[in-house]
Amino acid sequence: MDLYFYNTLTRKKEIFKPLHEREVRMYSCGPTVYKDATIGNMRTYIMNDIIRRVLKYNGYKVKHAMNITDVGHLVSDGDEGEDKMVKSSREMHKTPTEIANYYTDLFFQDLEKLNIETPEIICKATEHISDMIKYVQKLIDNGYAYITSTAVYFDVSKLDKYGILSGIKLDEQKAGARVDVDTEKRNPYDFALWIKAPENHIMKWESPWGLSYPGWHIECSAMGQKYLGEVFDIHTGGIDLIPTHHENEIAQSKGACGKNPARFWIHGEYLLIDGGKMSKSLGNVYLLKDIEAKGYDPLAYRLFTYSSGYRTKLNFTWDAMPASQKSLEKLKQGYQNHLLGSDDISDEEIAKYEEDFHKAINDDLNMPLAMSVVWEIIKNPKKSKKLADLLLKFDTVLALKIDEPIKQKVSEIPSEIIELAEKRKQARENKNWEESDKIRDEIKSKGYIIKDSKEGYEIVKQ
Ligand code: AMP
Ligand code: ZN
Repeated sequence: MDLYFYNTLTRKKEIFKPLHEREVRMYSCGPTVYKDATIGNMRTYIMNDIIRRVLKYNGYKVKHAMNITDVGHLVSDGDEGEDKMVKSSREMHKTPTEIANYYTDLFFQDLEKLNIETPEIICKATEHISDMIKYVQKLIDNGYAYITSTAVYFDVSKLDKYGILSGIKLDEQKAGARVDVDTEKRNPYDFALWIKAPENHIMKWESPWGLSYPGWHIECSAMGQKYLGEVFDIHTGGIDLIPTHHENEIAQSKGACGKNPARFWIHGEYLLIDGGKMSKSLGNVYLLKDIEAKGYDPLAYRLFTYSSGYRTKLNFTWDAMPASQKSLEKLKQGYQNHLLGSDDISDEEIAKYEEDFHKAINDDLNMPLAMSVVWEIIKNPKKSKKLADLLLKFDTVLALKIDEPIKQKVSEIPSEIIELAEKRKQARENKNWEESDKIRDEIKSKGYIIKDSKEGYEIVKQ
């Protein structure tokens, strides 16, 4: 069956065929390990994982590389500001290596909890300094880079097309609002490949350009090429990486070997929180451990991300989690029900389900549609081990551990909350709406939500 991915480069869905017959080579931009990864970041890593799993479902072998950015990612995502690692190290009174090790460990713990497979190759930027130096030297030798008093810059005017991924037009942008800090830059869009370290900078290496450190974009170009070759099949990341990081990776690769490094560029849309951006000031930067602390299985969050396609913004609210947790429990129960069943299911019926599921995942990872096939099977009144086996096969893509008992059940509702709910019920029966609303707010302040229905009410943990 044909496999389609939306390619950011061509802005359309295209049939995917790998360069090497049965092996797909894929690169994903990994975490900058200076702080906790959020559930937003995890949405992107779940997307990467689904791509891997769908490729394998289609019979491909996967060679997947993911970097760990432990130097060079500046606060601005461009050439301005402090290195994120250095900033975190100063604020936390730890060495950059201690910070990197600490957050890298936490990151992999989160991946495991979400049943995200570890890519075949994990590469740390600080362990590839000499590869990056060689890459920068090549760009200088090829005439694409120049040296200033503070950095080695890539000269975007040397490319016939800069901006093919994001569609920016240099001519229109020239007079634009970009403020350039470095007056030695030849063009506003030139970006740093290598940065000369100020006197007291703690992360620096010997290089032909003195004690210095790499730019963020060169890391991915050098490591991608080292492990996957000059041109590989798929490059992934979150949508925010398109205009700077990925655009610059393409520029670097064109300068070094005249080629775009990846044939398919796949980008995941953002996870929103309560309809907006996650931010420290709003106090809504949520981590996987917050999901666990409220009693939800991390895989309920994974399942939640299947409620929309990866190219659509997805809005997270705590109100959505009880339903997700319940759905996960229902899926697992549904699997068990089929496992014990012995009803007759025709081969045609199995083949139809299989085809529908395969079509959905092959259509640019249409997980909402794939899940609708799964629910049809769960709801099938005929119970059969054949259907349980089919669900297990689908779970190689879904990764919900459908055959394992639920890890965390939403904890029992404390008696204090039940008493309040009963008091509220009484107030409602007496049509004392003011009192009823007051109690509902009190219940909410204690971390529970009360939902009214025809049958009565339901209490769920927030
Ligand atoms: P970072 O560690 O900040 O470099 O980000 C790691 C990955 O998470 C990148 O691919 C980002 O594009 C992605 N990302 C960051 N924030 C979000 C979000 N709110 N939703 C989805 N992906 C995100
Ligand atoms: Zn990258």
